[in-house]
Amino acid sequence: MLKVYNTYTLTKETFNPITSGHIKMYVCGPTVYNYIHLGNARSAIAFDTIRRYLIYRGYQVDYVSNFTDLGDKVIQQAQKEGLTEAQLAHKYEAAFDQDTAKLNILPATVRSKATEVMPEIISFVADLLEKGYAYAVEGDVYFRAQKFPNYGILSHQDLNEMEENAAGRLDDQEALRKEDPIDFALWKGEHRPGVQAWPSPWGPGRPGWHIECSVMIDKYLGSAIDIHGGGIDLAFPHHTNEIAQSETHSGEEFVRYWLHNGFVNVNQEKMSKSLGNFTTVHELLAQYSDAQALRFLLTKTHYRRPINYSDTTLDQAQIELDRIRRAYRRLAKRVAVESVKDEADATVEEQLKSIKANFINAMDDDFNTENGLAVVFELVTLINQYADQGSLQLATAQHLLDALKTLMSIFGIDNLGQKESLNQEEQELLDARAQARLVKDFAASDQLRDELLALGVVVRDTAQGQEWEKK
Ligand SMILES: [Zn+2]
Repeated sequence: MLKVYNTYTLTKETFNPITSGHIKMYVCGPTVYNYIHLGNARSAIAFDTIRRYLIYRGYQVDYVSNFTDLGDKVIQQAQKEGLTEAQLAHKYEAAFDQDTAKLNILPATVRSKATEVMPEIISFVADLLEKGYAYAVEGDVYFRAQKFPNYGILSHQDLNEMEENAAGRLDDQEALRKEDPIDFALWKGEHRPGVQAWPSPWGPGRPGWHIECSVMIDKYLGSAIDIHGGGIDLAFPHHTNEIAQSETHSGEEFVRYWLHNGFVNVNQEKMSKSLGNFTTVHELLAQYSDAQALRFLLTKTHYRRPINYSDTTLDQAQIELDRIRRAYRRLAKRVAVESVKDEADATVEEQLKSIKANFINAMDDDFNTENGLAVVFELVTLINQYADQGSLQLATAQHLLDALKTLMSIFGIDNLGQKESLNQEEQELLDARAQARLVKDFAASDQLRDELLALGVVVRDTAQGQEWEKK
């Protein structure tokens, strides 16, 4: 039975979707003013893995996410890059699509942009005004946070403390316009020349950040959804404000299960621009040949726990992934050459059945990928043992391979047949050896082969040239 940890109640709850067999899921996407960073990628990967697991468990999943393609960050960066706001947003939307495809993140069922839902945003805000939960002042519209019962419950903070923090963040202009420092903007008036603004009943401007998610959920999924996801840093104020807006608008419970992923640290430090450890995924993918190893690193830690990104943890992920791929290739090779099909091997089939059940048990516990992968490694051990046998029951071998493929696809790994990659040093040695053989310097060639062997790379010479395999 699937259980999920709900940030709203701080407990693990039995998962019961609103409609049996069908899940409505929304995950906050990035502001498209730069390449995505590791934190964005982690969130997208965490919820992609959750989505894939729900599909594996037989659910139909509608997965909606957004691009925030307007607002201060977009305006400032567009000025820096000499682009219009729309051009800037398009540039980074395209980069997002490219980078997430490399990380094998499934495209959303609907990916909506804030600028595409402007009429719906305006009528949503008008409704909140009509209900008396919002007020317009000098071209801005604000939400009366304290009027909403249980405001702030999602982040489990003390209301007075929230009030003080909010007051500290206000600039003088805003403080004059707001009835209460904790009120938040639904609409912001905009009159600067050259800055994008949309007409509205309150004058030209643009929506506040929180309203777009409420509107997209309402438009594409309806007034109540099963899962709302995002980074834990979004619980307050973003998700807190989404609840206040949406429940005021619909009068219904907005979200059944609030799921939040943990942070990514870089070399054990918080990732931040000022520390200079703010790495974009675009840069990482350019440096790193095996994108799925990065995916594997970001998926193998339970989604709520922090992840430490470093060269060491990435290398470790690569080594583990290579171990899984190697087991797959070893057995697949034998299946490919041995042609007699036999009956299944009952003992191994029984072991495989219990591995599958253990996997479901692990993942049903709030999508615990760490425990799920421990079960995958039991399967890897079984596959290696089986591949070592003198004769194989090919039906069983095929079942083992299919199971590994299916379980790894939940983690977004779909290239098990692919050879592992060489690191730069290994590749250079291999290239040097090809060169040595070309000039028939066999002494050098033998020495390079020994050096590669010492690094764990076994080289054989074939009619097609060098072939290598990791030990
Ligand atoms: Zn959002």
